[in-house]
Amino acid sequence: PDDEGAGQPDAPAPSLHEQRLAAVTAALKEAGAARVLDLGCGEGRLIRRLLAERQFTEILGMDVSSRALALAQERLGRLPPPQRRRVRLIQGSLTYRDERLRGYDAAAVVEVIEHLDPARLAAFERVLFEAARPATVALTTPNAEYNVRYPALAAGGRRHADHRFEWTRAELRAWAEGVAARHGYGVALAPVGPEDPEVGAPSQLAVFRLGA
Ligand code: SAH
Repeated sequence: PDDEGAGQPDAPAPSLHEQRLAAVTAALKEAGAARVLDLGCGEGRLIRRLLAERQFTEILGMDVSSRALALAQERLGRLPPPQRRRVRLIQGSLTYRDERLRGYDAAAVVEVIEHLDPARLAAFERVLFEAARPATVALTTPNAEYNVRYPALAAGGRRHADHRFEWTRAELRAWAEGVAARHGYGVALAPVGPEDPEVGAPSQLAVFRLGA
């Protein structure tokens, strides 16, 4: 959501965020998930996309921001009741262990980790991969290497003032492989958005599979 305004060189349809949501939806579908978490759901754009797929029978959206949740609630409220009934929204923080997150098949974490204080990443890791422990986790974050392709960021800086960090492809890989090894998951990484031969794609997807 954040890098849409960062001076994207070409603004083709679908937008980068649409491509992220499509990639995450495809990963969750392929995993055969039915009950899914959307962690850091924001205003609920992924949730609306997931609701279009009958495979996803139950969706729990969580966000720390009551403002984001109110927006999500309002938008989801306009959907037909059979869709609306498949969703529940809760307020909570991904850095605190939460029993409500247990028992789901999969979790989406789209453009959220870069909003966490790096010192809280270890807590996030335990909350998701040790306590909630869904079989599949699909997580996206910006690829910092691509920032040089945004005119507004060519001189340095992050895509959004609220980002605490942005990782290169090697940094995401190192973190993701560490998480996977510590908690018994396998992980596969993939680019999201148009790939540049030197700096890669603007966004990156990590898909974790328990026991893979
Ligand atoms: N996933 C959404 C929103 C991404 S913006 C989308 O792709 O459109 C990042 C979101 O993470 C914001 O809604 C913010 O409130 C939420 N967030 C930040 N820190 C969080 C935390 N500790 N726990 C839960 N959500 C958090």
